[in-house]
Amino acid sequence: MPTAVVTGGAGFLGSHLCDSLARDGYRVICVDNLETGSLQNVEHLRGDEFVFLNHDITNHIAIDEPVDVIYHLASPASPIDYLRLPLQTLKVGSLGTHNALGLAKWKRARFLLASTSEVYGDPLIHPQPETYWGNVNPIGPRGVYDEAKRYAEALTMAYHRQQGVDTCIVRIFNTYGPRMRPHDGRAIPTFVRQALANEPLTVFGDGSQTRSFCYVDDLVHGLKALAQSGEHLPVNIGNPAEYTLFELAQKVVEATGATSEIVFEALPVDDPKVRQPDITRARQLLGWEPQVSLEDGLRRILQASSRESLSV
Ligand code: NAD
Repeated sequence: MPTAVVTGGAGFLGSHLCDSLARDGYRVICVDNLETGSLQNVEHLRGDEFVFLNHDITNHIAIDEPVDVIYHLASPASPIDYLRLPLQTLKVGSLGTHNALGLAKWKRARFLLASTSEVYGDPLIHPQPETYWGNVNPIGPRGVYDEAKRYAEALTMAYHRQQGVDTCIVRIFNTYGPRMRPHDGRAIPTFVRQALANEPLTVFGDGSQTRSFCYVDDLVHGLKALAQSGEHLPVNIGNPAEYTLFELAQKVVEATGATSEIVFEALPVDDPKVRQPDITRARQLLGWEPQVSLEDGLRRILQASSRESLSV
């Protein structure tokens, strides 16, 4: 039985990845300090082939068994979290990534870094291909996240080129699905929470900024396909269907049947104006395409939230 380590495995994406790897027959070692994740996300996985290590990956990690693949997802990811935890965010992107890469080197494991579309900053090219180097403000409030991920990418390539570690890098674009925390500040859980309570939906700015939203199951397929490939250079994984935030709010109102109005609030500092992945490389290298439309994904979230008493 192959063994996978998932850092950040008790978080939103990490827990769906643990589920999927367990279904594929992996022994899964979930490493998480529960900073923004929750044991609830993985409690259904408890069993002989699932191990939870309550560990801060910025501290040295030793695992006494063979490991085949390491998915390094540990990091605050929502703006609310990384603005609250700026130093921890920089530390987990740097020291945490060093430790996870050191483990991969020791175990001769395939290593996947969960990077982000935020490495493109407020992009001057649209849509964003992996060859774009980005337009990031290093000293703005979001710099702690964006630069931590850019450093983590540089570190990953250095471990690959100098130390021979078998690495890959995924640049994840906005992803949504069940288990997002209703108050994590990201657009979809915020709008769904507000709509389910028939409260006004709060759109930042005039709502004309665009985003692309990938359903979590599609994202997990992409992560596994990349880990199973021989690719080393970054690959975008996201859904290229692009919506303005205002359109997204309207879709959530429609999907929930809410009577909420849509109101506007001040735009956060350095908020990117557009965001859309160019997924040519993912298509060519991995044969990967997103399958779930936004309407379908919203329906799935609402079904899950009614099962879990309104938590999304
Ligand atoms: P999340 O906050 O739900 O999960 C992150 C997990 O990492 C949490 O369980 C948290 O407790 C854990 N963690 C944080 N610091 C840690 C540390 N020092 N040691 C051990 N564990 C630690 O966020 P998510 O949305 O699931 O994001 C997962 C990864 O994917 C992150 O690296 C994020 O940057 C990346 N990503 C996510 C998205 C998205 O749309 N969800 C987009 C781009 C990139």
